[in-house]
Amino acid sequence: MDSFDERLAKAVKLLKVSSDITAFTGAGISTESGISDFRSPGGVWDRYRIVTYQEFVSSKEARIKYWRMKNELFHEMKDAQPNKAHTALAELEKTGKLHCLITQNIDGLHQDAGSSGVIELHGTNRKAVCLSCGQLWPIEDIQARLDAEGFEPACDACKGYIKPATVSFGQAMPEQEMTKAYECAVKCDLFLMIGSSLQVEPAASIPREARGNGAKLIYINRTATPSDHLAEVLFRENAGDVLSAMVERLKQ
Ligand code: ZN
Repeated sequence: MDSFDERLAKAVKLLKVSSDITAFTGAGISTESGISDFRSPGGVWDRYRIVTYQEFVSSKEARIKYWRMKNELFHEMKDAQPNKAHTALAELEKTGKLHCLITQNIDGLHQDAGSSGVIELHGTNRKAVCLSCGQLWPIEDIQARLDAEGFEPACDACKGYIKPATVSFGQAMPEQEMTKAYECAVKCDLFLMIGSSLQVEPAASIPREARGNGAKLIYINRTATPSDHLAEVLFRENAGDVLSAMVERLKQ
């Protein structure tokens, strides 16, 4: 691997000649904000058995379990602030080059950093939804009810089950977001992947789609991914350091 400075120079060169960048982020971008990668040992989902969507809709016990797990996660996420990596992507958007930001994260930190039009593939933890009538609430409202009523809030209007507006295991990916994400991958000329190990779909195939349609790829991730060989430039360094250096150099 070339030195950090050599790779940085190469990446900045790609940023300079590109006019339509798509960024794709995963859990790795938020670990520096104190949000544990849910798959990592000791993470929330390591301490709780995963509740699938089918279990959630068919069992009261599963719903109670699920809300308990979510409540713990909320407390972990409550005070999380965007880090240098989130800020750098918001800055990159201001340069007019970044047109799409796709994320697998549910933490809302891109929006907090000032990014607009974020495509949330796995939904958001900032809202809760009634599974029957589709009504949405700010998550704070449901959290207050959790504390007051216990662990299984139901919809006032239709008595439907309320669930965080995230995509659970066994639940379909949101169609509109998926379509937009693939459109962004196809049309971009540079694809920036940050903090995903690209092990699951659609994360695995979105960068391949970009590359297949002529985009150059830059990967910033701690660990190897199955498509590292497709990337022009690879960084194993801290995402905040890499992205802020890249955007700073671009603006010079
Ligand atoms: Zn309802």
